Amino acid sequence: MSDEAENIKPFKTEFCRINPLNGYGKEHKIGAPVIEVIDVKKSYILGEMEVPILHDINFVVHEGEFLAIMGPSGSGKSTLMNLIGFLDRPTEGKIIIKGSEINKLSDKEVARLRGLEIGFVFQVFNLIPRLTALENVELPTYANSKYEGGARQRAKDLLRMVGLEDRMNHKPGELSGGQSQRVAIARALINDPAIILADEPTGNLDSKTGCEILNIFTRLNRDGRTIIMITHDPEIAKYADKIVFLKDGSI
Ligand code: ADP
Ligand code: MG
Repeated sequence: MSDEAENIKPFKTEFCRINPLNGYGKEHKIGAPVIEVIDVKKSYILGEMEVPILHDINFVVHEGEFLAIMGPSGSGKSTLMNLIGFLDRPTEGKIIIKGSEINKLSDKEVARLRGLEIGFVFQVFNLIPRLTALENVELPTYANSKYEGGARQRAKDLLRMVGLEDRMNHKPGELSGGQSQRVAIARALINDPAIILADEPTGNLDSKTGCEILNIFTRLNRDGRTIIMITHDPEIAKYADKIVFLKDGSI
């Protein structure tokens, strides 16, 4: 898998309005475990060969935490994110999200839990080009929703919260990178998930715009949202209150 992160300029936090908190100044308490990763191994089968990627990974993320998973390109960060996001299953070990263990669920149950409890933010935004910002934010509720009937209003409220009230009817092609990522954050929040999982969320943005995105994550976390952010950049990882370092598939 290619990692575009390698081509990015150094991230300058001098543009950031909200400085890294490193856990200080939090208004909320850290709560119960939302994700437990227990003795997890992951290998890929390439032809006849089994290639181990992650070895004996163990960590717990509690409600209200802001965790960064940091490591160089190729260290297995995205592989780990896919496991935590219930997009893939571990080769060995357990992943438990809000008490549900992935290995004990059917594919359908996994998809439902993922849709309701995990909000994804990607480096490349992944918005649907022919849908408006509002429709993109609403989209995840078509499959799973905690808000019967109230999805449109919630989508509008979320777009307002990320400062895009005047861009609701724009399509992704009419939005800047920073605006697109803000739409993606609103979309990630639409089902009020237990966790926001962000893989290099500022990777395609300049430092100033990247800061605006990090400021949104910081604000969400101050309000008690659990965030897991993947990054190769120590300056960005400073925004988290806990950092898990991944090197050659181990922590
Ligand atoms: P990172 O996100 O830290 O850059 P990845 O998790 O994308 O790292 O990749 C870790 C390693 O796993 C790399 O060596 C990559 O080539 C390999 N890898 C990733 N996805 C697959 C796949 N689907 N099949 C085989 N190998 C893979
Ligand atoms: Mg990656």
